[in-house]
Amino acid sequence: MRLGFIGLGAMGKPMAKRLVAASHKLFVYDVAGSAVEELEKLGAHGCSSPFEVAKEAEITFLSLPNSAIVAGVVTGEKGVLSGADEGHIIIDLSSVDPESTRKLAAKAAEKSIEYMDAPVSGGVTGAEAGTLAIMLGAKETSVEKVLLILAHLGKRIVHVGDVGAGNAVKIVNNLLLGANMAVLAEALVLGRKLGLEAGIMHEVIGRSSGKSYVLDAKMENFIMKGDFNPGFAVDLQYKDLGLAVDAAREIKMPLPMTSQAIQLFEMARAKGYGGEDMSSVIKIWEDLMGTRVRK
Ligand code: NAD
Repeated sequence: MRLGFIGLGAMGKPMAKRLVAASHKLFVYDVAGSAVEELEKLGAHGCSSPFEVAKEAEITFLSLPNSAIVAGVVTGEKGVLSGADEGHIIIDLSSVDPESTRKLAAKAAEKSIEYMDAPVSGGVTGAEAGTLAIMLGAKETSVEKVLLILAHLGKRIVHVGDVGAGNAVKIVNNLLLGANMAVLAEALVLGRKLGLEAGIMHEVIGRSSGKSYVLDAKMENFIMKGDFNPGFAVDLQYKDLGLAVDAAREIKMPLPMTSQAIQLFEMARAKGYGGEDMSSVIKIWEDLMGTRVRK
């Protein structure tokens, strides 16, 4: 099949590589030329704009940082909608605002182009292994058209509702992810100050009721190594918590826990950790308390 992929970052690049490895003809674009060159070496065709990608492909995937960038890539002068023919399918894998997703889907529909949101969970390792959880927001009647292609990228593909529903459930998930990370950071620093070794905390909590995804994913690989290369960047997690607050504001719902977590991620951004893995928020507590969780 002729596929397009726009946004070859931490998540997009391994996903695009899997599509090339599955012998699909893949047309790629990213503002970072080096990412395009890397895919070209594997057999993908580099393009100079989203327009060119959409012109060549039947389905175009997006994996981009935020709603504004997605909107620009889709509706811009050399955007996907200007290059795509009738019947083209756009699948947005990014984590973005459900409302702007619905608006883009309506614009696409005016040209008989189908738009789906399919945000993912499982991180870079899941993207590399093709084991992502995919939350598909699409018309019931369209799901079958994309399941086989999505199966190259994920193992748990759930049709969660119409377009926009994918991002709604993703927002709820990432609210939990960010809040859990914020709590893990303060808990581990408390433990360290109480004289506990990181390894002991990891072993005991990993088998106790305080266990969580962030403990499994972030403690050994990031916090204990002191290696905060993303992974999932602070800036992206901050964006996702903001999406939750924006959605809640619309319906007049307070989110006190989420708001607390946002402040910690804001502190990390102020410290210059925005591009580091989300687990680098632990450094805020470590610096405050004059300790390091790792030895
Ligand atoms: P990233 O910043 O590593 O990658 C984004 C890519 O988009 C970069 O290569 C960048 O050059 C490219 N880009 C930016 N503007 C562009 C434009 N106008 N045209 C074309 N390319 C452009 O981000 P990521 O970690 O790969 O995340 C991508 C999306 O997936 C985000 O919405 C994020 O929230 C979501 N997500 C990330 C993870 C993760 O663990 N990193 C997990 C689940 C979901």
